[in-house]
Amino acid sequence: MKVAILSRNPKLYSTRRLKEAGIARGHEVDIINTLHCYMDITRSRPAMRYHGVELPKYDAVIPRIGASVTFYGTAIVRQFEMMGTFCVNESVAISRSRDKLRSLQLMSRKGVGLPRTGFAHRPDNIKDLIKNVGGAPVVIKLLEGTQGIGVVLGETAKAAESVIEAFMGLNVNILVQEFIKEAGGADIRCFVVGGRVVAAMKRQGAEGEFRSNLHRGGSATLIKLSKEERATAVQAAKVMGLNVCGVDILQSNDGPVVMEVNSSPGLEGIETATKKDVAGMIFEFIEKNARPNRTRTRGK
Ligand code: ADP
Ligand code: GLU
Repeated sequence: MKVAILSRNPKLYSTRRLKEAGIARGHEVDIINTLHCYMDITRSRPAMRYHGVELPKYDAVIPRIGASVTFYGTAIVRQFEMMGTFCVNESVAISRSRDKLRSLQLMSRKGVGLPRTGFAHRPDNIKDLIKNVGGAPVVIKLLEGTQGIGVVLGETAKAAESVIEAFMGLNVNILVQEFIKEAGGADIRCFVVGGRVVAAMKRQGAEGEFRSNLHRGGSATLIKLSKEERATAVQAAKVMGLNVCGVDILQSNDGPVVMEVNSSPGLEGIETATKKDVAGMIFEFIEKNARPNRTRTRGK
C-alpha cells in the first residue's frame, strides 16, 4: 500500500518508527510536512498539492498533528477525507480530542469514569466552584495546556482560590478537578489501536511531583491492566471516535477515571517501556481497514 504520514518533523521518534514499520511490512511510505501541503478547495475534484506537484493517491494517511497546528492540520486531513483517502484518525475526531472540555462532556454523556470536574471562565463564586468538585485539594488546569504545563495543585481552599483568581486575570478557560490523591503521582497510558488496548505503561512522576508526564521528568514502567481499566480505555477511544489514541487514566478509589485522550500519542515512551512494535500494530490496523471512501465523517 501507499501510505502518507502527516508530520512536520521526519526526525521525531514516532515519525521515524512509523516509516520504518511500514517499510518493514512492505508498504511505500512518504512523510509529508502538514504545513507545506496546499490545496484548491473550490475544485470539484479535490486534490492535494505539495512541492509544486499533485500528491499521488494514497491508500491511507496517518495524521500526526501537533496541538499547535490543529486548525491547519485538521483541514489537511479533511481534504484527504474528501478525496476518499482512508485517514487513521478522522479530522472531526482529532478536533474533538483537542478540546478538553468537549471531550469530557462527550465522555460524561456516555458514562465514562471521570474525575469530578468544574469548568469556568470568570466564576462569580470561586468557593462554590471548589466545593462543587468536593473541596480542596483540587487540581486547576488551563483548558489549553499540554504536557503538564498549566496544571496546578491547590492544596488548600485558600491556595486554590488564589490560583483561580490569578487565572481569571489572564482571561483563560479553566478546569477545576478533584485531586485523585490515591493515584500517588502516577497515571496509566493506554495505547489503543482499532478498539483494543495494544500496550500500556504506568508513568510515575518525579519525587515530590504529582504530574506524571514524561516531559516533566516522570518514568515509565510496565503494568498489567485490570479488566475495568482496559474497558474504560476502549470506551473512551470509542466515544471520541479515535482509531489510534493514548488514553490517560488515573486509578481512583472509585475505579479508573479518564484524564484525557490524545489523538497523536507518542511512540517512544510506550515502545521503550513495553518493547512492543506499536508502530507495526498501527500498520496492521491500516492493512485490515484501509479502503477508499471508507471515511465515516468526511469532515462533517
Ligand atoms: P496535560 O494534558 O498538560 O498533560 P494533564 O491533565 O494530563 O495535563 O495533567 C498532567 C498530569 O497531572 C497527569 O499526567 C497526572 O499525573 C496529574 N494529574 C492531572 N489531573 C489530576 C487529578 N485530577 N488528580 C491527580 N493527578 C492529576
Ligand atoms: N507526551 C506524553 C507525556 O508527556 C507521552 C510521551 C510518550 O509517550 O513518549 O507523558
